[in-house]
Amino acid sequence: MSTNVPTKNDAEGGETSKTTIIGPLNFAKESSTDPPTSLVNERTVPCMFCTNVYDFHSPDSGADQLLAHLYLIHRLVVADVKEVACLPSYCYYWKDKFSNEPVEKYCSSMLLNQLPDGTTSQNEKYFLLSDVEPLDYEVRQRLRREKLELVLTRHQFERTDRTFHRGCLYCRDYRAETRPEYISHLYTKHFLLLGKPEHLVFVDELIDVVQDKLSQLICLFCEKLFKDRPTLKEHMRKKGHKRINPDNHYYDRFFLVNYRLKQKPEYVPIAKRKEESRVFASDSDSDSDWSDWNGEEQQTTCLFCTHPETSIDRLKQHMVEKHKFNFDQTVNGMNFYQRVKVVNFIRRQMYIRKCIACGEQYNDYDNLCKHLDETDHYLLDKETNAWDQPEYFFPTYEDDQFLCHLEVVENEKDDAAQEEGSIVISESVNASINLAAESLSLENFRM
Ligand SMILES: [Zn+2]
Ligand SMILES: [Zn+2]
Ligand SMILES: [Zn+2]
Ligand SMILES: [Zn+2]
Ligand SMILES: [Zn+2]
Repeated sequence: MSTNVPTKNDAEGGETSKTTIIGPLNFAKESSTDPPTSLVNERTVPCMFCTNVYDFHSPDSGADQLLAHLYLIHRLVVADVKEVACLPSYCYYWKDKFSNEPVEKYCSSMLLNQLPDGTTSQNEKYFLLSDVEPLDYEVRQRLRREKLELVLTRHQFERTDRTFHRGCLYCRDYRAETRPEYISHLYTKHFLLLGKPEHLVFVDELIDVVQDKLSQLICLFCEKLFKDRPTLKEHMRKKGHKRINPDNHYYDRFFLVNYRLKQKPEYVPIAKRKEESRVFASDSDSDSDWSDWNGEEQQTTCLFCTHPETSIDRLKQHMVEKHKFNFDQTVNGMNFYQRVKVVNFIRRQMYIRKCIACGEQYNDYDNLCKHLDETDHYLLDKETNAWDQPEYFFPTYEDDQFLCHLEVVENEKDDAAQEEGSIVISESVNASINLAAESLSLENFRM
């Protein structure tokens, strides 16, 4: 493992360290002079804490498995994991850190009254690794730049490299010299649409995957299994299934558009999430933990604007009138922890200027509100359940009064306790990159 890892002081000081983050070399790098296809070996990505390894290129998503494992076994949640440009590198980096320093040093911690599988239990400790930690912020920024650089270099290479020799998936004697020619041939001769050549990257692996699926007699588009090659061919032709499944996020990394740098608001640490929060270890509590929370003059701030109210009912009324958002109706049927997640999720989205319904990112608060108004998006998307991630157990703001009111409101504790037993947390640890494929120009990639 490389020891070229910046110290905490490097990251905090003005001087940006030039060392690259991460460890084991890529095999591609060693065996040829072609630009590499990944920053690190992504086939055996280690858990940050134990000896488990995960294959990030396997079709059953090594990334999801790793994230579920981190949560279920090590109680660690990575915040905004979709925004981590290269999760394998990120893991190598933190594994190295955690090998000689305690996880508490870099993570926010929190006590919940449940085990990772949802079983009720007292004062269970969980950790959140997020860019509130300066070192984490630094790593994420650097990975973004490095990944983008790698992708663009690789893309450039694949557009022009003339040493690409590969037989057509269908016809015997066709040989393309370049990858764009090959992709075009598949489309013009065989009507197989993988994407526009100029939008694709890591084409060799994409073709491997496609070839693999076809040889397993699986339709690329609907992913159904067929009994023999002629039946599959007939099906794909007749149904117009000669293209890859756009809903399968496994393919995301072959599309340049998914590496575009997204606008991020300036870095302002959110409150002091680093301090241990006992917010949710409250079932067993005496009132002592809450005495200073429920003082008479405590004000609660609206989830969508800065409007404060001392009465939660008046605040809810305000949200209905001003934002067409009915909180009680939204969380109807949810248990305590789910309601906590909803509040933290909305707070977080508003803070980072993202729509709570569709996830669209905005530059500023006013444009976000305009969008929420115009599209009636003051609501939670029931299909994606983006709010239902373990990271939203953690409060977005310290001392968020809204959360105490959830506690006070909760008079159906027995129901909630029963429901909790049935939560399947691992299902919500869903890390798949979910970026809409859209038209792109290279301008979008300028840093
Ligand atoms: Zn582990
Ligand atoms: Zn052909
Ligand atoms: Zn099909
Ligand atoms: Zn408001
Ligand atoms: Zn929206």
